[in-house]
Amino acid sequence: MTLQLIPSPTLTTYGPTVFKTERNQREVRCGMCGKIIYVDQATFDFVSDAINSGLDDPFRCELCKDEYDDLAYEG
Ligand SMILES: [Zn+2]
Repeated sequence: MTLQLIPSPTLTTYGPTVFKTERNQREVRCGMCGKIIYVDQATFDFVSDAINSGLDDPFRCELCKDEYDDLAYEG
């Protein structure tokens, strides 16, 4: 999933966005930084199921994913 940072009418919005779109009506919080991200219903259900199952918020915004990847590389 790629986080779309700015609205783009020419691009079909796919994946999480930082703004609400016709497709992304549900808000989730990044499990690391707490940033609100808008996702579609399927993604929201996935995150909700995980939280309801007692797991930590599995959602990571693009920035935190990058940071996590960096940390992983550094070992
Ligand atoms: Zn984050």
